[in-house]
Amino acid sequence: MGQTALPLDDIHSFADASLEIILRFDNDGNIVYANTLAEEELGYGKELQSQTMAVLFPAEFQSEEEGFPLKTILGMTEGMMYRKNGTCFPVRMKVREGGDTHLLFAINIARRVETERKLVRMKDEMEETMKVRNEFVANVTHELRTPVNGIRGHVTNLVEAGVSGEVKSTLDIIIRCCDNMSAIINNILDFSKLEAGKFVIEEKEFDFYKMVNHAVETNIPTINAKGLRIMVNIDKTIPKYLIGDELRLTQILNNFLSNAVKFTSVGYINIEVTKTLQFDDEIELFFVVSDTGIGISPEEKDKLFKSFSQVDASITRKYGGTGLGLAITKQLIELMQGSVHLDSEKGKGSSFSFSVRMHVAQKAKEEQQAAEQFEFINQNQEMPQFDSVEKFFQFGTPENVQEIRGKMEKLILCMEVEAWDKAENFAHNIKELLEQAPRELKRSAFRLEMNVRKSDYDKSMEQYGNLKSLFEETVGGM
Ligand code: ADP
Repeated sequence: MGQTALPLDDIHSFADASLEIILRFDNDGNIVYANTLAEEELGYGKELQSQTMAVLFPAEFQSEEEGFPLKTILGMTEGMMYRKNGTCFPVRMKVREGGDTHLLFAINIARRVETERKLVRMKDEMEETMKVRNEFVANVTHELRTPVNGIRGHVTNLVEAGVSGEVKSTLDIIIRCCDNMSAIINNILDFSKLEAGKFVIEEKEFDFYKMVNHAVETNIPTINAKGLRIMVNIDKTIPKYLIGDELRLTQILNNFLSNAVKFTSVGYINIEVTKTLQFDDEIELFFVVSDTGIGISPEEKDKLFKSFSQVDASITRKYGGTGLGLAITKQLIELMQGSVHLDSEKGKGSSFSFSVRMHVAQKAKEEQQAAEQFEFINQNQEMPQFDSVEKFFQFGTPENVQEIRGKMEKLILCMEVEAWDKAENFAHNIKELLEQAPRELKRSAFRLEMNVRKSDYDKSMEQYGNLKSLFEETVGGM
């Protein structure tokens, strides 16, 4: 069966329903048909059929001297179309060549052109605002740093000149506050530089093992003060000397490590570094920093790595911080062609892992030097599993007994120097660790915490003695 052509009336009623301007014109440019939209948009109404294409596109045809330039119009894809009232609008077109007549389909793109223009304007404005903001942040942070350093310096002088007792602990607190303030100022500056895309990753030779050791060392005072343990295992095939940004890698590691310490009160922190790839002098390192701390729920996980985000407001009250650390860390890792990942279970612990790419230094290749042993590195202990934290709380397990003894030692030290804040933390830890113990022990731990909370030296000491003997008696008889 041959195809039957559609009657002209049907074609015209399709064309009238179209959202495009449709015109049919002959070889001389005379318009022989216009759809409804064309009649309305161009303002001619039915008169449009007595016009020529040259009237609608005067700009395109003004240079032509003789006759109607059919070739020109057949090749057009964009142009300005004029209305009867002399106004015009930009169009995108398709022209289909026929026998005696030809078809032109056109869309008014004025709105799109305007939107594009607006977007460009907005982008320029945004860039300008960002520039002003970044300059402002750079100036303000610089101005803030000077007085903070000044305060810190003077207070340190006072401490060194020899003060003791309460005055010394107050001055120590001021120094700590200055350090926190400096860390926040640095974070804000980093964040602003990263946002502006102005962050440059350095490529310098450094001693990788020293770097890890240094990051760990920085956190050792807090780790010890909290009675936690730290384990560090580094894959021995990682060359000693690498090329990369030592300062920023330290910052990344330190952020994960200090968070792990901050959010863990019982158990351990583990750092594991392996080499996952080496191709010529390019090397990929994979770090895992895990802890047996408070953990992060799946819903909270989504909020992490976003700027100024902490998982909830109570965290800010209890632990402080600005919520900028992980957002910066993530961007730094990405600048080192790596990625970051979190595994965590609420109440059991967290495990942050990340990769970075570096280069192997020539020196390392020549010497093939074996990794030096550092104080905290390669203690060859097992990687903690989240469920192992349960052993800490299961009354009478070796982990539980050892942990309680450790915390008791820290507690008595704090009580002796009347550092009640810290003592309260340890008394609380002990109570938690005795959660599954016989009732008498639990009560004793509860009373101890109460007395410590009241900063009552005599009663706390007495209660400490009671708890200690009761505990040793109970575990001795197990
Ligand atoms: P901050 O500078 O406030 O520490 P971060 O971006 O480093 O901000 O961390 C954001 C939030 O992520 C923390 O406030 C905390 O709620 C959560 N978080 C980070 N690390 C841990 C961890 N090891 N264990 C539990 N929660 C964590």
